[in-house]
Amino acid sequence: MPSAKINIGNVEITSLSDGALEFDLCNFFPEIPSESWSGYEQYLTPEHHVRFNLACFLVRSEGRTILVDTGLGAKPADAPETPWGELLNSFRDNGVRPDEIDMVVMTHLHRDHVGWNLQSQDGKYTPTFPRARYYFSAKDWEASHDPQFQAERFTNAPECVWPLEELGLMELMDGEYTLTSELTTLPTPGHTPGHMSIMISSQGQRGLILGDVLHNVVQVHEIDWVSRADMDPEQTRATRRSLVERLEREGTTVAAIHLPAPGFGKILISEGRRYWQAL
Ligand SMILES: [Zn+2]
Repeated sequence: MPSAKINIGNVEITSLSDGALEFDLCNFFPEIPSESWSGYEQYLTPEHHVRFNLACFLVRSEGRTILVDTGLGAKPADAPETPWGELLNSFRDNGVRPDEIDMVVMTHLHRDHVGWNLQSQDGKYTPTFPRARYYFSAKDWEASHDPQFQAERFTNAPECVWPLEELGLMELMDGEYTLTSELTTLPTPGHTPGHMSIMISSQGQRGLILGDVLHNVVQVHEIDWVSRADMDPEQTRATRRSLVERLEREGTTVAAIHLPAPGFGKILISEGRRYWQAL
């Protein structure tokens, strides 16, 4: 089935998916007591788990075809029973071929955002998207090599990210980086040191690909709730607070990677209370 699509001015965004991940609350939000979820059950599965869509956004801007994030990658035999490893099926369902991608852009280098970058056979790596160059943050590249973080925080970087250097396919980004005249990165650090969102501006309309600034809709209400995946909790809270306020103020259309599929929506305010309105 073809996926949901939106337009921001002349930019077209299709929400593809690599599947979903599910965690126990005490695993993913270890610092939030379970009674604090009372009144927010609608944001959980019937089993009281958090479930994340693994959206990968296909963006068409100025004749370029851009893939933002590449999911978890092919499903290992011992993977949990959630759908996983679906990205190339999602390409097929939408009539898109991997060789149409000109640019792969990663919001950050955690494992659920880089999984389909490369294929490996007999110890040799080849790009899954053979015509693409691969863009990601210089700060995350550095962090993914830091022995303090690598094994726990950037688990699959050695297979899914590091070989891009030798293949001559990597493009490091820093600060506000122009991808096309309609797409610019916006540093949104905290979840990882170099985490980036992507701002879209076209024909007077605004959009933002959020990355992992939010993992669950509850965080629009409970801005300070950080998860174990957020590397710097204080920075995560500060970034989220200023971004959520800005998105609401500017009426920006948001494409959220981990919120319920397809992940398009707006942050609105009613009687002083912000909320997520899915499109
Ligand atoms: Zn993620």
